[in-house]
Amino acid sequence: MKTFCGRANPTTGTMEWLEQDENYDYHQEIARSRYADMLHDKDRNMKYYQGIRAAVSRVKERGEKAIVLDIGTGTGLLSMMAASAGADFCYAVEVFKPMANAAVKIVEKNGFRDKIKVINKHSTEVTVGPDGDMQCRANILVTELFDTELIGEGALPTYEHAHKYLVQEGCEAVPHRATVYVQLVESKRMWSWNKLFPVHVEAEDGEKIIVSPSEMENCPGVPSVCDIQLNQMPLSDFTILSDVVTMFSVDFSKPVRSASTCYRVQLEPVKSGKAQIVLSWWDMDMDPSGMINCTMAPYWVKSTSAFQWRDHWMQCVYFLPNEEPVLQGEKVYLTACRDEYSVWYKLQKARGEEENKADVRVESPVCRCQAHLLWNRPRFGELNDQNRTRQYIESLMKVLKTDSVCLCISDGSLLPVLAHYLGAKQVEYYFFFKVNHLEDKIKIIEARPELLTSSHLDDKKISVLVGEPFFTTSLLPWHNLYFWYARTAVTSHLSSDVTVLPQSASLHMMIVEFQDLWRIRSPCGTCEGFDVQTMDDMIKNSLNFRESKEAEPHPLWEYPCKSLSDPQEVLTFDFRKTVPQHCLSTEGSVNLLRIGKSHGAVLWMEYHLAADISVSTGLMQISNEKGNCEWNPHCKQAVYFFSSVIESETVSDLPSAVTYAIDFDTKTGEIAMDFKL
Ligand code: SAH
Repeated sequence: MKTFCGRANPTTGTMEWLEQDENYDYHQEIARSRYADMLHDKDRNMKYYQGIRAAVSRVKERGEKAIVLDIGTGTGLLSMMAASAGADFCYAVEVFKPMANAAVKIVEKNGFRDKIKVINKHSTEVTVGPDGDMQCRANILVTELFDTELIGEGALPTYEHAHKYLVQEGCEAVPHRATVYVQLVESKRMWSWNKLFPVHVEAEDGEKIIVSPSEMENCPGVPSVCDIQLNQMPLSDFTILSDVVTMFSVDFSKPVRSASTCYRVQLEPVKSGKAQIVLSWWDMDMDPSGMINCTMAPYWVKSTSAFQWRDHWMQCVYFLPNEEPVLQGEKVYLTACRDEYSVWYKLQKARGEEENKADVRVESPVCRCQAHLLWNRPRFGELNDQNRTRQYIESLMKVLKTDSVCLCISDGSLLPVLAHYLGAKQVEYYFFFKVNHLEDKIKIIEARPELLTSSHLDDKKISVLVGEPFFTTSLLPWHNLYFWYARTAVTSHLSSDVTVLPQSASLHMMIVEFQDLWRIRSPCGTCEGFDVQTMDDMIKNSLNFRESKEAEPHPLWEYPCKSLSDPQEVLTFDFRKTVPQHCLSTEGSVNLLRIGKSHGAVLWMEYHLAADISVSTGLMQISNEKGNCEWNPHCKQAVYFFSSVIESETVSDLPSAVTYAIDFDTKTGEIAMDFKL
């Protein structure tokens, strides 16, 4: 069956109809899933195996048959571990059909057909009894249903149901328990992801300060978890205010309650400062004794954590609703509240008497100021980046005159406010932004560029057209070229000597070796001795479905890599002219300068605001002779993984160059690329 699905093209802005194969969604899900990452997580796999072996022996020692329930079996891995450890029978439940099918194949290939029954159902639909999916309740419960926030994938309701209906009382659980830890910190960098800091503008008539409205100042933000690779956050970017404390734990071998609840701990700040952020992670004890422990603790808590890279479990950053000054030694209470799927935090000054828990119940954060719906966390960080703002101010000062009529095309941008303070007579602006009572100075035009009329502009011609450019619909760096398409659509409203800022953009490319990110695209072959190649084939097939020749967005400040070539400018886009009819194509080669594994190419955009002012959304610098890269911390870069990795161990076996062909199709706004090593 073929269906068509309409979407606005992120680059060109036009509506397009994509032929949607009925399997499209699941190919997407598999191609971009974290299954490979989990299978590469040696630490996790080893500890599960140890925990499962120990649980099976405990049951056998009691003289019972070991009947395992594995909820969310994925590839069937944990069930195969249980069967190898001597379990008598395993029920492997998997709700996602393509995965359940793969599990059947993998189980068969590894010779466990008689020991493992794959059930393609959600666990809450599984029946027990002589005619049921399971003959009897299980006495070992194995799952891996956790995300970075522990409970975000619905582990609690699943466990609650399983204890009621699918497992015996007193069952063994692997993992046995999970514990959530927190640490209070002050961090201007992380706080800048949630609040808009004042922006200082040096105008001709004195300094102006753009401040955020009080609704924004007091807004608790959005409830979605902020999960990052905290191991990439240098100690210089935050100040520790408290020791690490246990916030709560869940014993998976006992009935679990998923209903909303709060937990409260007392903290004694080890340093005075502004409490802004709660950093959080969890660990799992695979057995009751706690001897087999798998932890997400960051490097300053556990020095070896950097060697246990994983992308499916990272660490969480929670923003307190307001920053609170705390004094060293003066106790405070930290409250964690959770519903079935998410956690949020509140800090309170300690009171003499023990407070009633019901008193401290706090509501889940809901954005009241709209800004947190318009700007995601990296975007907040970008708007708070003073260096970047300075570059825009400098460039605007070069082009704005007192009689400028300025049109800004960018989502949720501060440029109109900057332009106004810097002297533009009239500023026209797409989309909404209301700040500092400039409604009569800045006109917001709610129309698509192609529908702009001279009456929107009070019959004036635009003398300065500005954009960051930034659009919330952009996923890949070049999607912001929508600015060029919008600029083309409003051409008839531009004065003959219009200034366009940025005047141009360029696409840059570099060949890299990743420290760890390569794992997410690398085949697993075998995992803990089990053949999981079926999974590799399935991922490859799904990638080939549409994605394999496409780049994917990753925030590379979180994923260290080393440059193997110099960065190279590959295409330029002249915003002073309209989008051409023909494709923009380039071919060439880059020399490999360093030995290493060529995992792929990274691509990013640079915007040329003025003759000598450019901003990069990608590479900031190559920080040493080893080739370590520093990336723009607010943007995602495009990563194109090579289908095979070329490894050079000595300079003499370096392939001399990588050749590339890159095409920007101006009709579709898509970039196609091909690399040969
Ligand atoms: N157990 C595998 C895969 C873990 S990923 C391993 O450790 O490698 C989690 C899997 O659980 C996903 O495939 C997801 O589709 C499935 N899942 C999550 N909740 C489920 C539920 N309640 N019932 C059945 N499957 C579930």
